Amino acid sequence: MKNWEANVRRVTPYTPGEQPNQPDMIKLNTNENPYPPAPGVAKVLKEMDTDAMRLYPDPTAGELVSAIAENYGLEKDQVFVGVGSDDVLAMSFLTFFNSDRPILFPDITYSFYDVWADLFRIPYERPALDEDFHIRKEDYFRENGGIVFPNPNAPTGVELPLADVEEIVSRNRDVVVIVDEAYVDFGAQSALPLLKKYDNLLVVQTFSKSRSMAGMRIGFACGSPELIRYLNDAKYSFNSYTMDRTALAAGAAAVKDREYFEDTCNKIIETREWTKRELKALGFSFEDSKANFIFATHETCPAAELFGALREKHIYVRYFPGGRTDNFLRITIGTREEMKKFVMFLKEYLKR
Ligand SMILES: *Cc1c(COP(=O)(O)O)cnc(C)c1O
Repeated sequence: MKNWEANVRRVTPYTPGEQPNQPDMIKLNTNENPYPPAPGVAKVLKEMDTDAMRLYPDPTAGELVSAIAENYGLEKDQVFVGVGSDDVLAMSFLTFFNSDRPILFPDITYSFYDVWADLFRIPYERPALDEDFHIRKEDYFRENGGIVFPNPNAPTGVELPLADVEEIVSRNRDVVVIVDEAYVDFGAQSALPLLKKYDNLLVVQTFSKSRSMAGMRIGFACGSPELIRYLNDAKYSFNSYTMDRTALAAGAAAVKDREYFEDTCNKIIETREWTKRELKALGFSFEDSKANFIFATHETCPAAELFGALREKHIYVRYFPGGRTDNFLRITIGTREEMKKFVMFLKEYLKR
């Protein structure tokens, strides 16, 4: 080891799902939306004034913040935006998790949480999900330095009922509780209405899944004006101009088209329910998912084998080897046509 390496901040990075690029592929591995963004997004990009690129964007991201606040019936000082919710979550860890006590998040969950905790030297503990992959709320009723969990959880798709979310928030008034609602628009209940009662709750959402804009990188957090002010203080101490001009305009256009948003979410929900019935008939089992994916295991065929067989046919799903997830596949919901091809392949393969 070289001498200077002793002072390097070393981390084991998060491993993003692979981004293959074959013309005939069916990509069900990173929970992207199979439908294009709202039509208004294309229009905004086509009419973009490139001369304005000379100028820095609005550091307050006012256009996008206003559109989000209006959509959810909040004030502008209750909304913070960032470069995808990964950016928002990282900034939130940095800002709110600054205690010697461990923060808490489930043992099976979004695998970025422990990476940020390690990066920022935040101590953490990971209470185990129960046998059915459900969060046990009681695990979060002990002393801690903060709490974060996705709802629905990833990669399980399991929703924690809103009453249980509220209990976790209300029993932890001395710390910040972050609810990561990346998948909430596919049929789960949002904690946003709880913001009226709790100033220690931060609800984080993203445009990457339900708004079909993973490639544009937009995420946001909603919370009390105090929480949002602290987040902005950290942001302005790091990078004032996180949101570029295209993201601000395209994001605002996407939020304003509620009808398109509801249509595409409903199509995905219908296809998910159809896929559940087909998978059950084929011998798969899974907890009830409220997300745009299903986390399933097969009664006889090992997940690792199926993952490889699917991959050979250019059908990509996500596999998390090792531990309790070792025999499960996380299958993103695509279009109905894609899911039909996926199920057809499984029917043939499992017959052998
Ligand atoms: C996808 C995802 C995110 C991050 O999404 P961004 O693309 O960075 O907005 C955050 N949390 C969970 C649980 C996710 O699945």
